[in-house]
Amino acid sequence: MTSFDADPSGFVHQDEEEPPSPMGVATGSTPASATFGLPRISRQPMLFSDRELFPRFSPDGAVCPPRCSVRTRHFRREFFPDVPDRLWNDWQWQVRHRFRTLAQISRVLELCDDERAALLQGASMLPVGITPYYMSLLDRDDPQQPLRKTVVPRLAEFVHSPGEAEDPLDEESDSPVPGLVHRYPDRVLLLVLDFCSSYCRYCTRSRVVGHGEITPGRARLERAIDYIARTPTVRDVLRSGGDPLVLADEKLDWLLGRIRQIRHVEIVRIGTKVPAVLPQRVTPSLVKMLRKHHPLWMSLHFIHPDECTPESYRACARLADAGIPLGSQTVLLKGVNDSVPVMRDLMHSLLRMRVRPYYLYQCDPIVGSAHFRTSVDTGLEIIAGLRGHTSGYAVPHYVIDAPGGGGKIPLQPQTVVERCDDCVVLRNYEGNLYCYPDENRQSGRR
Ligand code: SF4
Repeated sequence: MTSFDADPSGFVHQDEEEPPSPMGVATGSTPASATFGLPRISRQPMLFSDRELFPRFSPDGAVCPPRCSVRTRHFRREFFPDVPDRLWNDWQWQVRHRFRTLAQISRVLELCDDERAALLQGASMLPVGITPYYMSLLDRDDPQQPLRKTVVPRLAEFVHSPGEAEDPLDEESDSPVPGLVHRYPDRVLLLVLDFCSSYCRYCTRSRVVGHGEITPGRARLERAIDYIARTPTVRDVLRSGGDPLVLADEKLDWLLGRIRQIRHVEIVRIGTKVPAVLPQRVTPSLVKMLRKHHPLWMSLHFIHPDECTPESYRACARLADAGIPLGSQTVLLKGVNDSVPVMRDLMHSLLRMRVRPYYLYQCDPIVGSAHFRTSVDTGLEIIAGLRGHTSGYAVPHYVIDAPGGGGKIPLQPQTVVERCDDCVVLRNYEGNLYCYPDENRQSGRR
């Protein structure tokens, strides 16, 4: 029995995996089961090419996606040479072998002074956790690599800047039951657990995620389900966390089934980063179970095109083939994805993976996030660089989740230049002006 197998009640164990406190970056010893003690190598191949990522077609037209990126193959050869495919592709093995400490991480990455000091300090709000698969995508020598910045802590995390708060969205005050946020009348957010297989350093819920306080215990979940059942205005339940997909299949099945029994709940959504950081979790048995609970939607969390690997492609294909509409949520992050070319590549890759770009979030002002936050103008410039220049499907809604609990507020580059009595002057994506007749406005008609 592994440390992450289903327990008798159907929940996953988190015993040795999750730190009991935010001191999750202790410099403790490497798990005996991890084969990290190999010499570091200085060269590593490029991540992958388009030819690798996107499916080839066999003569009979069947899709033949590649198995993994060159970089992941190289990483496995160097650091997990004795681990067979059977284990590498086992999501529970991936979770058990996460990189969590300075000792573990420094064996595979050439850490800069800043990263090393942050790992040594080890008392930020969020623990460290990186699956071996996601670690294989990180650049070993370059601390400025976008993916690496999002999972390896930096000293800037410990700086509390003006305007930052532990709970900037004020979710706690809209929480009628522990772990349930009811902000909008017709939908609720159910925090199923606070565990993630990899921890993003900009996480909006770093005040709770990884702390071991929100557990998927049956009693708490029954209280949340009871609240939803007693609140007939709720037609949409978003399950998030933490990452709900790290629950055992049986527990997920139970929870989805209980919510489905509530007649006024029309749709269920799952928010997850699993296809990006732990694509091995998307097994045939998981999708077979999920498809019983339609209409089920998923919001996937991708932040950079380098996450769109053959493994992620396959995970998304399985979910899409099960009839689950897939949308993406991306956080705008300085030095990670704050340019038009990077964002366009990401959105195009997502569309090729059958994921519809949904939201682009301005980074929330959580404590220690100043180094990740761009100006709002940067976000608007990115949207202006996408809108009209590529398919409309590739343009997400750029939103700010208003501090203090105001909800998501969309932002758009200004396209209405002038309003006349009988027309409106508009600017197109190339900057040209056009006049649209708007007689109805003059006559007061709508
Ligand atoms: S996966 Fe989501 S909940 Fe988990 S650390 Fe990342 S942003 Fe936070």
